Amino acid sequence: MAPPMSAGSFLSRLKAEGLTVVEVGDWEHHNRNHKGPWGPVHGVMIHHTVTSGSRRTVEICRDGYSGLPGPLCHGVITKDGRVHLVGYGRSNHAGLGDDDVLRAVIAEKALPPDNEANTDGNRHFYGFECENLGDGEDPWPEAQLDAIERAAAAVCRHHGWTARSVIGHLEWQPGKIDPRGFTMAAMRDRIHERLK
Ligand SMILES: [Zn+2]
Repeated sequence: MAPPMSAGSFLSRLKAEGLTVVEVGDWEHHNRNHKGPWGPVHGVMIHHTVTSGSRRTVEICRDGYSGLPGPLCHGVITKDGRVHLVGYGRSNHAGLGDDDVLRAVIAEKALPPDNEANTDGNRHFYGFECENLGDGEDPWPEAQLDAIERAAAAVCRHHGWTARSVIGHLEWQPGKIDPRGFTMAAMRDRIHERLK
């Protein structure tokens, strides 16, 4: 049970992890808090955007689209490895997922299959959207993978979490495939090494 860190702490934790951070507009106050609570937080969720082009990707994640208002995450990790902060607070990234998965994340145990959509994930997860077409062919540059590792580790370090608190959207919500192109097991190994 952890309250979300402040926006200022989020920014400084990301920078302390060696990331290049871009602050987009009034990100600290751009959120969906009027739709429900944010927190307690239990983990970090990784996504791919199904977009190409950094500028357009960041815009969509900040503003959302028809039927899904932004922000769509907290940080957008573009292919060059920069982290663009587009919102802070409740954001539309996780949707409904599996309560058994949430329990496993809280306990930092191996994840069960996600076969239910009964729990509000936007309340409980930090979210990073990563620029990629998600077609299994669009490459993931090492600079981007390194930034995903660092961003997730930065949040874990603040809260005293292990890499088991980092999950992919595909591990949370039935039917989701993101992120596609690397495995969350491999990414958790990297985060684990970084947190040692
Ligand atoms: Zn997603």
